[in-house]
Amino acid sequence: MADKRAERIAELIKPLQVKPGSKVNLGKDFDPAYKAGVLKKKDGVELLQTGIALLADYQRRLAAQDSYGVLLCLQALDAGGKDGTIRHVMSGVNPQGVRVSNFKVPSAQELDHDYLWRYARRLPPRGDIAIFNRSHYEEVLVVRVHPENLRRQKLPEECKGKDVWDRRYREINDWERYLTDNGFRVVKLFLNLSNEEQRTRFLKRVDLPERNWKFSPADARERERWNDYQRAFSQMLSATSTPWAPWYVIPADRKWFARICAAAVLAHTLIDIGPQYPEVSKERRQELLTIKEDLVAQAPKGAPADPFQAEQEAKARAKEAKRVKAKDAKAKNAKAKNAKAGESKAGDAKADAGARAKELAGAATVPGQEAADGSRPDGARRRAPRASRARSQTAAPGETAAPGQTARGQAPGRSRDATSSRAAPARPRTRRPRANGQPS
Ligand code: AMP
Ligand code: MG
Repeated sequence: MADKRAERIAELIKPLQVKPGSKVNLGKDFDPAYKAGVLKKKDGVELLQTGIALLADYQRRLAAQDSYGVLLCLQALDAGGKDGTIRHVMSGVNPQGVRVSNFKVPSAQELDHDYLWRYARRLPPRGDIAIFNRSHYEEVLVVRVHPENLRRQKLPEECKGKDVWDRRYREINDWERYLTDNGFRVVKLFLNLSNEEQRTRFLKRVDLPERNWKFSPADARERERWNDYQRAFSQMLSATSTPWAPWYVIPADRKWFARICAAAVLAHTLIDIGPQYPEVSKERRQELLTIKEDLVAQAPKGAPADPFQAEQEAKARAKEAKRVKAKDAKAKNAKAKNAKAGESKAGDAKADAGARAKELAGAATVPGQEAADGSRPDGARRRAPRASRARSQTAAPGETAAPGQTARGQAPGRSRDATSSRAAPARPRTRRPRANGQPS
């Protein structure tokens, strides 16, 4: 089951990964409207719930194991859906094990340090997941598109030459490798929004008063630099998707699909880490049992010795009783069904016997001629119902029947046309299985 889920997740995210070493042209290589095989939003709801439950489970293990940490970096253009993705994807996890950091224009104190300093300060401790809402990648995105940001960083002259971006890519890769080598996984998601979808979302932020706070004239100005950002993103993805920390380009035009993908990439990482609850040593177990003895001895009069254990046992008993009851009900149902089937078989046999008796009585009549009660001698009997059906499908004089319909517009074989009253008495047609098991 877990393996199946892991496989499904791996399959879903495979086309989203930027192959380390590949050269990305964002506009050509990744479609913001891609949605894999997931056809509709409602199909995606279940998928996201599965992902969220899986994340919650793995986060508990991650915390208990207290050995690995996870850093999730989210990058996107404005209105790319970073906030919503965090809100939905992390909705099932224990807030105590997650810390979200937003990175905005650096403060004076932050500008007084090397550019990675403020990010390093927000790295996760072991057992935790840290989310960077914007990340150290802003240092090769907004800072590159607007070089005045670099000037504010107070770098010595020889450190801000033309090679500064290639150097930063290398430094970032090295930093992430260092983190990975020390048990901190770096997960990188770029929410890839189309130009038109950004325009739509901006307009929504203008049109809805309760969204106005999310929109600023600066956002509109940044949109004018769309192509510069696309280029900066493409270069960043090409240079910093590494085997230890690959980028995933998340199609972001459909928020619901972006959330599924984000949850899937994070889940994939956690599954890969495979955190386990710590094993308890024999000595430690013995120690716990000694403490238990002491606690059991402290039970007040009338109270169960171990209330938790008593509750567990009561639950187990209730569960077993429910299971047995369901099993009994199923057996009873099956028995009733069999009995009913037996009854109708007996009824058939009775009807057969009656018909046979009538046939014998009518055997005295001339073959082909009807007995007084309308029944026919043997031989004619079996064909009679079909003949009557054929007659009933024939339109009465003056009436035309539509193809496949009787004169009265009934379905063939269901006719109660008067013509059929001349046929042998109707007998329930029981289907006898053929030797090969197919119904005849
Ligand atoms: P928001 O996330 O929409 O609240 O906006 C935060 C703003 O801070 C964005 O316009 C970012 O481009 C900007 N920002 C983030 N990191 C940096 C940085 N290192 N240098 C300059 N601007 C930044
Ligand atoms: Mg903004």
